Amino acid sequence: MTKLYIAVPCYNEEEVLPDSAVKLREKLISMMDGGLISRDSRIVFIDDGSSDNTWQLITELHQVDRIFSGIKLSRNRGHQNALMCGLMTLKDEADAVISIDADLQDDIEVFDEMVKRYEDGCDVVYGVRAKRETDTFFKRFTAEGYYKVLDKMGAKVIFNHADFRLMSRRALEAFSEFSETNLFLRGLVPMVGFKSDIVTYERSERLAGESKYPLKKMLALAWEGITSLSTKPIKLITRLGMIIFLVSIIMLIYTLIRFFTGATQTGWASLAVSIWAIGGLQMMAIGIIGEYIGKIYLESKRRPRYIVEEYLHD
Ligand code: UDP
Ligand code: MG
Repeated sequence: MTKLYIAVPCYNEEEVLPDSAVKLREKLISMMDGGLISRDSRIVFIDDGSSDNTWQLITELHQVDRIFSGIKLSRNRGHQNALMCGLMTLKDEADAVISIDADLQDDIEVFDEMVKRYEDGCDVVYGVRAKRETDTFFKRFTAEGYYKVLDKMGAKVIFNHADFRLMSRRALEAFSEFSETNLFLRGLVPMVGFKSDIVTYERSERLAGESKYPLKKMLALAWEGITSLSTKPIKLITRLGMIIFLVSIIMLIYTLIRFFTGATQTGWASLAVSIWAIGGLQMMAIGIIGEYIGKIYLESKRRPRYIVEEYLHD
């Protein structure tokens, strides 16, 4: 029987946590009763340095029922790092780990299906959103557009899959070899390989509380996704530079012809425009290259991605 762990990153989730805990517990118990998972399966909350009562709630849950465990990070490190901490801490204990957000927007009813696929020999089972009806137009448009951009950039991500997935111990073991600091899990997991499958579900609204992903964090994650998975932006810049250089040669020939045929050159406008155009392009290019150098810099430090302050388990 599968020993299943559920990894739930939580950042200031005191409003949804009690509710989510009850729902997750009921689900796991029904799966245990159904003989699908073993009795020592667990729900593990990873407190990502919350400033509210989240950790206290986790501690209480753990005291009341040992089905709940908790990991406390020493400070806020962001969703991806918190999740990574959960996966890496649990990989030696569980047969399979399902990661899910604390607000349970993802459908816990597909846990059964995920475990079944795992038992059928899949090492990774991706949760994929069937529709995006509960999203605003803006979110749907940007999110789906983003997946397409990622795909164009050569990053292999599963369309409409976020961080709701099951990973087997073997996949997690392999995943632990990925030691990068800049994390974009949904882009890295497919690189692990092994047999995988998807299950579709409908995503609902957040149970309570506010999104912990304001636009700023969302943009940061989106940027992280592109720059940590693909070096295509650099190649595009090189190509752009070559095209601009070609255009400038054509312009040069053109102006020379105009000069020798005696046409007057006012010239100021085209000169000014080209200075600005080239200047702007150069700055953008340097900026993007700087982005990668910054990443190399951060990677070369080999800083820990997270530090565990406390681990509640038995
Ligand atoms: N989260 C986290 N650290 C952060 C921000 C978010 O661990 O710095 C967690 C959060 O508690 C939740 C998950 O990441 O479990 C996804 O956040 P949220 O549901 O707010 O994002 P949304 O669904 O709005 O994109
Ligand atoms: Mg959410």
